[in-house]
Amino acid sequence: MPPQSCDTMVALGATTSNGQTIFAKNSDRPADECQPLVQRERQEHRPGAVTRTQFLTLPQASVTYRHIGSRPYWCWGYEHGFNEHQVVIGNEALHSKLPAASQPKLVGMEILRLGLERGRTASEAVAVMTSLISEYGQGLFANEAGVRTYDNSYIVADPHEAFVIETAGHEWVIKRVTGALGISNVYSVETDWSELSRGAEQFAAERGWWQESNERFNFADAYSAASRSEGSGAMRRVRSCTLLSQRRGEISARTMMAVLGDHGDGVVPDEPFMTAIRASTGICRHPDDTGAGGCTAASLVADLCADGSRLPVYWCSFYTPCLGLFLPLFSEGELPPLLTRGGATPSDDSPWWRFYRLNRAVMGAPDELASLVRQRWQPLQDELFATAYEVAGRGRQLVDAGQQSEAKELLTGYMAKNATSMMARVTALLDEVAEESVLA
Ligand SMILES: [Zn+2]
Repeated sequence: MPPQSCDTMVALGATTSNGQTIFAKNSDRPADECQPLVQRERQEHRPGAVTRTQFLTLPQASVTYRHIGSRPYWCWGYEHGFNEHQVVIGNEALHSKLPAASQPKLVGMEILRLGLERGRTASEAVAVMTSLISEYGQGLFANEAGVRTYDNSYIVADPHEAFVIETAGHEWVIKRVTGALGISNVYSVETDWSELSRGAEQFAAERGWWQESNERFNFADAYSAASRSEGSGAMRRVRSCTLLSQRRGEISARTMMAVLGDHGDGVVPDEPFMTAIRASTGICRHPDDTGAGGCTAASLVADLCADGSRLPVYWCSFYTPCLGLFLPLFSEGELPPLLTRGGATPSDDSPWWRFYRLNRAVMGAPDELASLVRQRWQPLQDELFATAYEVAGRGRQLVDAGQQSEAKELLTGYMAKNATSMMARVTALLDEVAEESVLA
């Protein structure tokens, strides 16, 4: 079975340097599974309408909200995404004690998309997602489509609050986030839950996974099939929680990008950021030089805004974040079509496949080539930081003044210019790295 990894983090306003909620996600997937972006408009639906996920048909909501998702090219759902109401969600694969179900269920990434489509706040999205999980289930199930299925955990955030959801089949638990934390491929909600699915305790007790007593139910103890103190997921979770806790009060979007690009193995969780690339080690995942192993396919850092002073800024990158560029995106504008390109086979018009090639080239001699690539991105990344928040402020003013089409034009133009610039530079960089590789 291919490795399943991912990391999701959130820092509430009390722990960040700008006082706003900041969310982050690394989506780790098979090394050559393209993961472009997609934007879907707000839609109203007639009574009785249905929505078809890959395996199930569900009643449609009366309205689905505009959103942007990061989508494995074949998938109905997303690894992470954000909607017009600043609800942002990321998921993780978990390994529960439940055997594979024989009936089709929802895929974890589909539940994420349904949360974005139907939630105006984090708490509303959590209610939508948990009710779908109870009714339709998720987790490991047999299917002939070859879709890899697993139990899931999520962080669901908005500018004011955030929640962790962990699941096993049709059962789930919710924990309200205080401060800052990270989750990974390991159950983490123990007795500190704020809400539990109705059958969670009894279901576990009937299977001998939990002894009913006066003790508060421990979801992670009851349902986790894997060690919660050893293994890559446990190490990455300790690492992200430690890095965030050390920086409490000063966490910024840049801090989150550094955490997503970190290569510490978690053995010494409080060591400084580790930037030297080691395949299959760290929160930033690279395949080894044979292309085997999982890798980070896409990342998101969402810098939300609770006080109406600017629009939220969604920093998105393709492939491994430590060799990439985070582009500032705005859901109020039109996503550059360039960023939606890419499918099963490599194509030069897809930025995702360009970054894939760049990563493969660097992994031939990571010690020499990674620093070259990072040096080349730095000026553009700095420039984007210098302009994105100004654009976010102007965009907000235009929206508040009722000048929606001017706002859309500003944001669409800004994103398109940056996407084109990124594409030109990654292409030039591929040539430069190829030349350096020959010289090395
Ligand atoms: Zn990396």
